[in-house]
Amino acid sequence: WSEGTLEDAENSLRELAALAETAGSTVLEGVVQRRQRPDPATYLGKGKAQELRDIVLAGGADTVICDGELAPSQRRALEDVVKVKVIDRTALILDIFAQHAKSREGKAQVELAQLQYLLPRLRGWGDSMSRQAGGRVAGGEGIGSRGPGETKIELDRRRINTKIAKLRRDIKAMKTVRDTKRHGRRAVGVPSVAIAGYTNAGKSSLLNRLTGAGVLVQNQLFATLDPTVRRAETPDGRLYTLSDTVGFVRSLPHQLVEAFRSTLEEVGDADLLLHVVDGSHPDPEGQISAVREVLADVGGDSIKEVIVVNKADIADPEVLDRIRRHEKHSIAVSARTGAGIEELRELIAAELPKPDIEVDVLVP
Ligand code: GDP
Repeated sequence: WSEGTLEDAENSLRELAALAETAGSTVLEGVVQRRQRPDPATYLGKGKAQELRDIVLAGGADTVICDGELAPSQRRALEDVVKVKVIDRTALILDIFAQHAKSREGKAQVELAQLQYLLPRLRGWGDSMSRQAGGRVAGGEGIGSRGPGETKIELDRRRINTKIAKLRRDIKAMKTVRDTKRHGRRAVGVPSVAIAGYTNAGKSSLLNRLTGAGVLVQNQLFATLDPTVRRAETPDGRLYTLSDTVGFVRSLPHQLVEAFRSTLEEVGDADLLLHVVDGSHPDPEGQISAVREVLADVGGDSIKEVIVVNKADIADPEVLDRIRRHEKHSIAVSARTGAGIEELRELIAAELPKPDIEVDVLVP
């Protein structure tokens, strides 16, 4: 559900489908309903929910993904009608981030976000689990822990809170280590470039293009916990670091923005931001503003930004022209074919601050 026009809703739904495919699902069909506000009981109206049930049956779907955040009771009520698992956009996005998190810090951040999402939904999930088991209570758990009784929920809640506190401490410690390394790099005058952009815009591909064969940083000074900080070189041989940030999506769940805050804040510290946009996307400008919104939230809106319009090999030339006219600092590239990459390297070299000292002493 969104307040915008039908077109907004359809764009958002298209993105949801792409996200579901990223998570490994095959998408059957989208259903849109015009209404003043979501139905408090079932999110969709009764009739529309029935229609959804028919689509589920006809296509043999096993999951319904809702493009909005569902209240726990709405999720349960809708599940009762469609008779398959119902999840919302936030749960889907959290799932994708969980699949993609590679570093220890990234994994901890996603787990924190998942637990924060789960906490207020504890009772809902518990109920639904016992119903799926046909209402029977699994044995062997002992008195007092059967079914979703208050005690059990209370116990789960306490466990989750303890885990959340631990994850927060861990993440804080990892951030301290990362900060120290970053300050070390800055102290010796190595400039840093951050890559930001929508999920699937081609950030990883670009990172690999700019750093050669995706070489991982070797030097002690560069060996950080986060494997996405890489070493790159300008055409005139100056060293800089290139770091990837989280992928952005429309309405990035607030739990995630919170969990990734320290990673995102790193963007605010960079000398240059490469804001990667998928030029072949139906709404690249929408992507740009969604990313800027999140960046503004963490103070990353004040650094020098270059809009890198990627996938120029398959994008509509008119769209490329339009973005270039509106964005003064922009360049069209293709991470796939390599088109425009040399120009991008030159651009980065021109935008980076000149080093105070010779940095090649750092290379072993
Ligand atoms: P990320 O999520 O932003 O890191 O995006 P990826 O680098 O994983 O790329 C997402 C998808 O877009 C992958 O399937 C890439 O192969 C594809 N891709 C990336 N760059 C280009 C490009 O320049 N042209 C085309 N046609 N596809 C690209």
